Amino acid sequence: MTENKFDTKRIHAGYDPAKHNYASSIPIYQNVAFALGDARRGEAVAAGTLPDTYSYSRVANPTVEVFEKRIAAISNAVGAVAVGSGMAAITYTILNTLEGGGRLIAPKDIYGASLDEFETFLPKYNIHTDFVDDINDVDELKRTIKPDTKAIFAESVANPSTAISDVEAIAEVAHEAGIPLIIDNTFCTPYLFNPIDFGADIVVYSSTKGINGHGNVVSGLVVDGGHFDWSNGKFPQFEENEFTIKSEQFPENYSFANVFGVEAFIQRIRLKYLRLFGAVLDPFAAYLELIGLETISERLDKEVSTGLKIAKFLKQNPHVKNVYYSGLPDSAQYNLAEKYFPKGIGSTFSFDLDGDLDNVRKLLDSVKVFLYLPNVGDSRSLIVNPVQVTHREVQEDKRAANHLTNQLLRLSIGLEDSDDLIADLDQAINHAFE
Ligand SMILES: *Cc1c(COP(=O)(O)O)cnc(C)c1O
Repeated sequence: MTENKFDTKRIHAGYDPAKHNYASSIPIYQNVAFALGDARRGEAVAAGTLPDTYSYSRVANPTVEVFEKRIAAISNAVGAVAVGSGMAAITYTILNTLEGGGRLIAPKDIYGASLDEFETFLPKYNIHTDFVDDINDVDELKRTIKPDTKAIFAESVANPSTAISDVEAIAEVAHEAGIPLIIDNTFCTPYLFNPIDFGADIVVYSSTKGINGHGNVVSGLVVDGGHFDWSNGKFPQFEENEFTIKSEQFPENYSFANVFGVEAFIQRIRLKYLRLFGAVLDPFAAYLELIGLETISERLDKEVSTGLKIAKFLKQNPHVKNVYYSGLPDSAQYNLAEKYFPKGIGSTFSFDLDGDLDNVRKLLDSVKVFLYLPNVGDSRSLIVNPVQVTHREVQEDKRAANHLTNQLLRLSIGLEDSDDLIADLDQAINHAFE
């Protein structure tokens, strides 16, 4: 049988109805623990040697597992782990890669909380980030890699500038140096872009956003492409023996790399970080994620098409100075947009008003359909002023890299009628300059 395509996998992958009373929609196993049956079965379940069994929901839960398997299937990945937030996914991924210390490379225009974490918090764990001016500048990247550099981190499409990372080129630099490329693909979702197909090793998501698409769950994902060699000498945590995975099959060399092979990274995320640091996703939250995922293609197609209409409307509005949207044909990065994003770069972008903070405030006070709040990837259209709200964590010296001015507004396009959204912005902009 040939492998199913994306739209079939997002509905069916990772779920066998025959094992769940033929329930069509995924059952919610709102259980902490699962009875072990008889004593011999209990020992096997606890040892992890009986497949498709469960004991305690911090380690595995059937509803959450369908979500993980489905995400892995649509990402062409060897595995995925769902966690309680996007920040947990990022933190676990960085710690699993740089455990014990080392250097990370990242651009300056990453998500505010990631930037704050890398800049001010991870150094306390002996993890130091070298911020580059241009993540697509291969020479700058090569110059920045030091002997103890252990990963490159980037966002496929940055927020709110929509700057695109040249994932294939960055992956090549990383792999030459024997280090992985980690991509935060939140803004694109797996529907618009799959970084693993272009050489990324680990992909992280805030599935709070477009994957869920309805603004009702905080959640995150770590997705493992399974191509990186974690036993190349730079990552001792994967090569040292780990007593919890010792077995009759692996009595001598029971390291993650040896026991799990291509799944070493994702299994270590699950068995060390999820099990011991504990940011699990709740089964009901996983159920809502699965419902959202079922309509991801239709939602994103409509949001992208409405977003383009709105960007074009803004471009010709006399009160708008700049529109930052790499999906527009006159954007400087349109060649990258065409290469990586044939279905569009996403539904979030930003623009500068030709005015001041006062005009921004009046605009925000005048919108009637757009909701003024700090989120993206919702079925409702959202607006926010990043410098005053979502990007407060970005220190002054890093704001220019991301066009973060006082007049900047970010839009996240939802599923309303595009004419109504344009009319709403039109009247709000007019009020702002009355
Ligand atoms: C929202 C977001 C995060 C953090 O996700 P949470 O689910 O809020 O923890 C990380 N990266 C990007 C790009 C985001 O948009």
